[in-house]
Amino acid sequence: MDSLKEQVIENKQNYLCPPSWNHFYKEPPVIVKGEMQYLYDDTGKKYLDFFSGVSVMNCGHCNPEIIEPAIAQMRTLQHTSIIYLTEQMGELARRLSGLLPGDICRSFFCCTGSEANETALLMARLYTGKKEFIAIKNGLHGRTHLTMSTTAIPMWRSDPYLSDAVHFAENTFIYGEDIETAAKKSLESIRRIIEMRGKDNIAALIMEPIQGNGGIITPPPHYFKALKALLEANDILLIIDEVQTGFARTGKLFAISHYEVVPDILTVAKALGNGMPISAACTNEKIAMAFNKPSASTLGGNPVCSTTALAVLDYIEKYDLCQRAETLGKQLMQGLKLLQEKYPILADVRGMGLMVGVEVRHLNGMAAPELVDDILEALKECGIILGKNGLERNVLAFQPPLVITPENVKDLLDALDSILAGIAINKAALYND
Ligand code: PMP
Repeated sequence: MDSLKEQVIENKQNYLCPPSWNHFYKEPPVIVKGEMQYLYDDTGKKYLDFFSGVSVMNCGHCNPEIIEPAIAQMRTLQHTSIIYLTEQMGELARRLSGLLPGDICRSFFCCTGSEANETALLMARLYTGKKEFIAIKNGLHGRTHLTMSTTAIPMWRSDPYLSDAVHFAENTFIYGEDIETAAKKSLESIRRIIEMRGKDNIAALIMEPIQGNGGIITPPPHYFKALKALLEANDILLIIDEVQTGFARTGKLFAISHYEVVPDILTVAKALGNGMPISAACTNEKIAMAFNKPSASTLGGNPVCSTTALAVLDYIEKYDLCQRAETLGKQLMQGLKLLQEKYPILADVRGMGLMVGVEVRHLNGMAAPELVDDILEALKECGIILGKNGLERNVLAFQPPLVITPENVKDLLDALDSILAGIAINKAALYND
């Protein structure tokens, strides 16, 4: 009889597509159970989850305060959010309108981040009557045609016929360059694209407030105000993709609020459902009126997912997860900066709240994805799951459920300290090159 792990691998290799075998670990664990900030594998081993499925499980795994209302709703009515009148989706839209920045007050619900962004791009075309878009290098927005076209990470651009209506501007971070200079170059490149293509051709610029998969890239404080002014002067909309940053992750409900800017369209997914598939493209009254065309998602905002999302909003407020992310984020950041002083392969520590990235490089400046893999493997052995991202796969990604404790942060930092000490001894040459 095959072990569960062998069965899972066999099914994956023989029946799923794409068939390629791509994992963070040489021996990926089979996760069978979740409990707040912890995961368990099929051997009973317990892991502290410091990645939460890429910022999905902000309220923790199988949190009773989230799942009980969802289970009760599942027993009562699952379908449908369209055709008939149901209560939950409208109530969620009303709650969100009180929480979204500025004048953003209407939501279109769907199931994934890709769909929410595809809808946002459609809204921009309908409102402006213009076709083209600007996106940012290292950004990621999804798997559908336009969202893959606006994604700048090569490994996520598999379609050979992507749209030629998308123009990529410079990122706000270039390793080795001061952040202010990089941000200035980014704005300058956006200005050039507008000049080159003409303002009458560009509908919107789409951007993550803090890039997730691109390597936790945090633009400097003034960046978005300058960007919004530039776009407004050219009648171009700003779409902010909060799929990874939304719902308290960065210490505010939405990351763009750190920058005191109100986008024209804001998209959310992942943490809104805390594991249930729900997403939304949210906008102001004016743009929503231009979206007055037949459009609906069969299961978008269905009663079960909307009930879950309402429970998520209640939970974030009840336990003040924004404050928690800010406080624990500071503890994490301070600890990582101390480790950076000890271990120079930690080339850059950056982020906001509990969305933190650590760039790992050799002393000669070369990206060190193989050391990131070593660190991830060693942490897994200690019972801690961490993420990785970045264009060169050399960024350690810290995005835990927001229900972690100060002791969990300390345990992670202690484990990382001893792992880095081991690497420093074993690979002493790295420190001398
Ligand atoms: N936008 C961002 C910023 C994301 O991180 C992702 C997924 N990693 C998406 C969009 C796409 O979301 P989904 O996988 O739910 O379609």
